[in-house]
Amino acid sequence: MIRIPDFSELPENIKQMFMPVVLINKECHQKNNDKILEKKKKRSWSRNFLNSKAWKLLRKEIMCEHKNICVYCGSTEQLNVDHILPKSKFKELALLKSNLQILCWTCNKKKSTKW
Ligand SMILES: [Zn+2]
Repeated sequence: MIRIPDFSELPENIKQMFMPVVLINKECHQKNNDKILEKKKKRSWSRNFLNSKAWKLLRKEIMCEHKNICVYCGSTEQLNVDHILPKSKFKELALLKSNLQILCWTCNKKKSTKW
């Protein structure tokens, strides 16, 4: 946390010299806080989602239906159910079967660099 000094005790003429700077700092501070909060919210949504029963069940179903094979390279190791359109950007598609595919770790990594 950034600490904003309290200028209220300073003489009026000095206060006026510093006030614009303090106000700008406060604004930046607020924006930073908002960004941090936004990030935290996203992270906790993702964590809750991955721990949800709905996701765990769907994940199993997808793995079973696609016979535990990476759709890109056919590998059967280090598999993960991947969101074709990322769940961070398309929350409403997070539990849509047609938005899911099985990828191995390597292909998943290659794909994630494209987004
Ligand atoms: Zn693969």
